[in-house]
Amino acid sequence: MLLEELVKVLNRVRETSSREKKVAIMADFLRNLDDNDLKNVVKLISGIGRINVSWGTIARAVGLSQGEDIGEMVRRSLLEKRKQHSLVEEAVTVEELIDLLSYLESLKGKGSSEKRVALIRSFFRRLSPEEAGFVARCITGEMRAGLSKGLLIEAIGRAFGRGDISKAHTVIGDLSELALMAKKGKLQVSPKLFSPISPMLAESCYSVKEALEEMGIAAFEYKLDGVRVQVHKEGDRIKMFSRRLSDITDRFRVELDLKCESCITEGEIIGLGLDGRPVPFQILMRKADIRREILFFDLVYLNGKTLLDTPYQERRKMLEEISDKLVPRIVTDDQKRAEEFLKEAMEMGHEGLMAKKLNSPYQAGVRGRYWLKIKPGLEKLDLVIVGADWGYGRRSRWLSDYYLAAYDEERGTFEVVGKTFKGLTDEEFEKMTGKLLSLAVKEDGKTVWVKPEVVVEVAYDEIQRSPKYRSGFALRFARITAIREDKSPGDADTISKIKRIYESQFSRKSAKW
Ligand code: AMP
Repeated sequence: MLLEELVKVLNRVRETSSREKKVAIMADFLRNLDDNDLKNVVKLISGIGRINVSWGTIARAVGLSQGEDIGEMVRRSLLEKRKQHSLVEEAVTVEELIDLLSYLESLKGKGSSEKRVALIRSFFRRLSPEEAGFVARCITGEMRAGLSKGLLIEAIGRAFGRGDISKAHTVIGDLSELALMAKKGKLQVSPKLFSPISPMLAESCYSVKEALEEMGIAAFEYKLDGVRVQVHKEGDRIKMFSRRLSDITDRFRVELDLKCESCITEGEIIGLGLDGRPVPFQILMRKADIRREILFFDLVYLNGKTLLDTPYQERRKMLEEISDKLVPRIVTDDQKRAEEFLKEAMEMGHEGLMAKKLNSPYQAGVRGRYWLKIKPGLEKLDLVIVGADWGYGRRSRWLSDYYLAAYDEERGTFEVVGKTFKGLTDEEFEKMTGKLLSLAVKEDGKTVWVKPEVVVEVAYDEIQRSPKYRSGFALRFARITAIREDKSPGDADTISKIKRIYESQFSRKSAKW
């Protein structure tokens, strides 16, 4: 199918503001596609084809500098070029775009960036401005096609007359697979081997006490700080999927000793140091030659039978029968016992505990209170805002992405240690924007640098070593938890404190790998 046809339909979808009409247009379109086109089209729209190519690469490829909406910019820039010389090229097909995306994705290592730029450039030459806008959005993952994932799922259901599509989606996470099954009348609401299931997720809770009050008796498992994987096995064939449903079979090498004919299990991959303690997350992801291990915590399918509605306690028992590599756990209603177990988990270098309700089903795709994560976090920091970026989309009126800094006693300056747009309400963004503009000292593109005056309290998951900022540190998942109007920059935390917390993280983790 020609890319042009898809782009035309998406334009029609975008032009109407009626949800009902969007779904109807899309459903009509999907209904008439053959299997291959259906798979490819859904892949493109849902962003599964999205790859790790940055906005900068595209900008370089088409010779642009800066701007808001990449699709629109590429479109405009090409329009201008087209006026100068109109090229007659063969029309591009959806299939070719899919091929390009997977090729770009596969390019790795030295020179790959240049190769990407060259490939994207020559591909773009064959596109109409409308197509170019679409392709740019596909490549960067900014798929503002006017069709959210929810709408696309509804359209697939409508196209093939399946009202149960949303439920099916939780167990068939891959939308193109889902669409094909719906088309063939083979949609199922039970797991299918080698098609990833949307993972069940946990809500937060503050303490063991809170979990026990809610659950009465509970299973407490170590909460490991690693990479969640879903393992699908049938005979000798094995595939691993990430939490975001990508195939990561080749990403990590771990020993999987599953004694069964077929199963879908879930576990966490962690890295182990020479002393047997878990290594920091950063090392797990980056270092190729460390020992990695998977510890399983759930089983949702075994030898042809779905276990989604089987109570957790029974699933765990079945899991014990097929593997020895399980996440450590206890079952108790005793607060003291659970608190000791939490302490043990922390001392061993893990993140905390996961409390699980004994008779709970596996709720695919749901973040609920059958699982409660207990993560005694690192102490919060008081940091100073030294700059901010104008936001995007809904936030474009506000300075809403903040540079957070700690005081460096050696340099006598505030040094950035992280950035966040998380934690403030709309009203607070509005007020903060006014305040920061009144403190502005320099503007640099979309960044406004300000006098260090506003102090905020910041929570984060981890402190990492990073060359990104001059301080040498970066906070992972920073979020503002309070605006400390009562504090002045002189009360802010220092780089040496950050260093101390950074080092304390390692006192429990392995430092040898
Ligand atoms: P969070 O990412 O903080 O929302 O916590 C949920 C994640 O914790 C899951 O997606 C898993 O990757 C991870 N995790 C670690 N240990 C466990 C466990 N025992 N049970 C379930 N998830 C776990």
